[in-house]
Amino acid sequence: MSDILNWIERAMVRTEIDRSSGCWLYNYDISHNGYGRLDVDGKRVRIHRLSYGAFKGEIPEGVLVCHRCDVRNCWNPNHLFLGTPQDNFDDMVSKGRNILYTPGSPISPKLTEPQVLEILSRIASGEDNKSLAEEFGVAGSSISKIRKGKTWKKLTVPSSGQVMSAEACPPPHVSAPSI
Ligand SMILES: [Zn+2]
Repeated sequence: MSDILNWIERAMVRTEIDRSSGCWLYNYDISHNGYGRLDVDGKRVRIHRLSYGAFKGEIPEGVLVCHRCDVRNCWNPNHLFLGTPQDNFDDMVSKGRNILYTPGSPISPKLTEPQVLEILSRIASGEDNKSLAEEFGVAGSSISKIRKGKTWKKLTVPSSGQVMSAEACPPPHVSAPSI
């Protein structure tokens, strides 16, 4: 059984509401790339995704939950919208983030090297295949292969928190639904 009410209560006591922006700022457990996390049903999940699922509706497979406020640890459902990996890619290019990729490396909807590095570091910190697969828009089996070293064998987890996030949501005006 899901402890949905339970997580909202737990999150609320760790949340500060910014009265000017309306952001619900969760500051208890923040990932290295700025997202709020908490444990639900024994899994560590990102609070903005939980919030979207609880208040707005189902998150289709492979779809990102983005912040129109650009505050990654905010979980106010009214600040969240869905973005596709294509939006993500377009946004990344428009912001010049493709400089993260070395020349000649594949840039495609499939996983890129920075993403795999992030996945590896999050596997190491205990995240499960399913939540990683959902977030990166790939099959659980792809994560499993990375975990077992069957693919991307040459990559290793960097020792510091230097992994750049490959997840980038589009600017809100691109695909924000009107509420
Ligand atoms: Zn916000």
